[in-house]
Amino acid sequence: MDSLDYAILGVFGLLLVVFYSRTLLWSILRSFSSDDTFKVSNSSGSRDVRAVMQENGKNFLVVYGSQTGTAEDYAKKFAKELVGKFPQLNVLVADLEDYDWDEQIALLGRSTPLALFMATYGEGDFPDPALPFERFLQDQDGETLKGLYFTLFGLGNSTYEFFNAAARNTQKMLTKAGAQQVGKFGMADDGAATTDEDYLSWKELIMEDLKDFLQLNEQDVVFRPAFDCQWRDSVSDDVYLGELSANYLPTQELPYNEANSLQTGPFSHNYPYLAPITTTFELFAKGNDRNCIHSEFDISGSNLKYSTGDHLGVFASNPTEKVDQFLRVLSLDANRVCELRPLDATTKVPFPSPTTIEAAVRYYLEITGPVSRQFFSMLVQYAPTETTKQKLLDLSKDKDLFASEITSKYFNIADALSYLSHGEPWTTVPWSFLIENIPRLQPRYYSISSSALSEKQTIHITAIVENMTIPDTKEHVVGVTTNMLRNIQLSMNKLPTEDIPVHYDLDGPRSLYGGHKLPIFVRKSPFKLPTNSGTPIIMVGPGTGAAPFRGFIRERVALAQREDSNVTMGPMMFFYGSRNESDYLYRDEWTQYATVLGESFQMFVAHSRLPGEPKVYVQDKLKEQESRVLDLLKAGAFIYVCGDAKAMAKDVSATFVGILSRGMSISTDEAAEMVKMYKNVGKYQEDVW
Ligand code: FAD
Repeated sequence: MDSLDYAILGVFGLLLVVFYSRTLLWSILRSFSSDDTFKVSNSSGSRDVRAVMQENGKNFLVVYGSQTGTAEDYAKKFAKELVGKFPQLNVLVADLEDYDWDEQIALLGRSTPLALFMATYGEGDFPDPALPFERFLQDQDGETLKGLYFTLFGLGNSTYEFFNAAARNTQKMLTKAGAQQVGKFGMADDGAATTDEDYLSWKELIMEDLKDFLQLNEQDVVFRPAFDCQWRDSVSDDVYLGELSANYLPTQELPYNEANSLQTGPFSHNYPYLAPITTTFELFAKGNDRNCIHSEFDISGSNLKYSTGDHLGVFASNPTEKVDQFLRVLSLDANRVCELRPLDATTKVPFPSPTTIEAAVRYYLEITGPVSRQFFSMLVQYAPTETTKQKLLDLSKDKDLFASEITSKYFNIADALSYLSHGEPWTTVPWSFLIENIPRLQPRYYSISSSALSEKQTIHITAIVENMTIPDTKEHVVGVTTNMLRNIQLSMNKLPTEDIPVHYDLDGPRSLYGGHKLPIFVRKSPFKLPTNSGTPIIMVGPGTGAAPFRGFIRERVALAQREDSNVTMGPMMFFYGSRNESDYLYRDEWTQYATVLGESFQMFVAHSRLPGEPKVYVQDKLKEQESRVLDLLKAGAFIYVCGDAKAMAKDVSATFVGILSRGMSISTDEAAEMVKMYKNVGKYQEDVW
């Protein structure tokens, strides 16, 4: 071995130490995560899944491990279709965290297979609610699950290194323990934007496999509701008008919107904090046809805490134009109040109830995203005419036809229905069908762009507004949350709102959001600065990927400005990219930070759309600085990459491989292994979406 080998071995040894401390840190972070799921199992409260199945006459089990709600959504769709198609089946659909898992599950036997929907989270991890299930599988020694039959669908994203790792590991561990797989293992790839089509292709095969395996009789899909809707005519204090938690409902002691002033927490995904936005402004220069909004949330007095690098979860509502369109197309009476009653003890209500139809459409249902082919196949039974029915059937069966007639036009549910019926309202679609087939509106996440050291009581976010005009129709395709943030920005700064594509009820349910508040919560992230401020860091963040680095650098500035400060400040290289000068985020701030941090801070800016100039990207700037980057890596630098997962993160990773390969005279494969190891041990961290 020569000295380079020793150096590489030394680095690997060090990396292993960092790896174990980081894994520990990540599990601690996760155990403190405020993003915990609401824990209600079933009305009996039993955690014995076989007993619950027996008590409720269930003969098929669908379970999901979901972090953001997608795996849950697909598991529920699957269960709905099973019961609609096969009258013999009575399905229990459950969150993995709602039950205790032991070898007795194998006693379900051949007649009661288990269908698993498993998301992958973080760096190839199981979703938080599925961690006990993972431990149960890991503990199996020998063929303890012989007799268990399962089907498996994984939800993942191929832009991440550990694509569908949790589902793959589930398959490995189940098979090793003697369980038998029925049909093909399916995997969805959100990175290729094919989740829905991947699911449909898998589902079509697996339904056939299950039909043969269980000798089932098939019928045309019929909707069998899981809830009964008890209608009421008036709104009383117990009726949700969009409140996300019972804590916000009015009580005798606290009339309507005063509940907000007494919020105590602890706040979480299920009990978000109604935080006032105190400052908000447009970040792009006048004349730019896009918008990017800086928003500052005041968390003083809330006990809500965050660390630099964490994510903020933000709950928005649907825009009024889209709510009205949905109500109109489906001929729904906005003011009716529905109290949902599960038809059996194993079903959870999907959102707060009782609630008005208007509140459900505005606050609880995801009505604006692209409509799915699966939704069409379920809707066939409610087609207003024979011609529409045939059209729906054709579209639901033909992937390419669906893509060209529906997806390519960016139709949401209401657009698609209106297009199919030539503007005629759909009067016979039951409310229970809609709430059971449309997913719940989920919070969106933002990389926090402030520092917990310099802004303890305020959380900043930096959000690019999603707004696209379809060339043919001039219709706007909008992002729900970012357009709400823009509405708030315009309202707070008393700017005109007539020409913007969509408008919102900024006052919120019972005026709870009055004074420009929004429900928020903090989600812990492992994206963290090294504990020693002397460690060099290399940050790569084009566009809104700059968000967490603004936080990192503000943190270093606050450290440097401490009166008693004699901290050693390691070198910081920041590679930023924008299209041109007019979308250069926080342009003036970086110069101020450089004044405080001096030579330790260097910023390199790439512009990709300067008129008459070649396109320059962050990875080009990295290459330009190759020898300095290499020096810092040799000195133990941490690498941070934030922003676009599809192209940028991959190109940047490949650039680091090239830099290491050339600089250390090792092959590309060896350099790629090094980068992989850096990632595994947390010296190369990505916050990408
Ligand atoms: P959504 O309503 O979620 O819409 C998503 C997209 O679908 C939009 O482009 C919208 O125009 C399009 N769309 C809507 N309807 C249709 C239709 N019918 N057919 C086809 N397309 C349609 N973003 C930032 O700007 N800054 C950050 O710092 C940031 N950090 C993030 C950190 C993490 C960990 C993650 C996971 C994401 C982060 N994001 C960030 C992305 C952010 O969470 C949101 O996804 C983004 O802001 C869009 O949210 P939205 O509600 O406005 O759009």
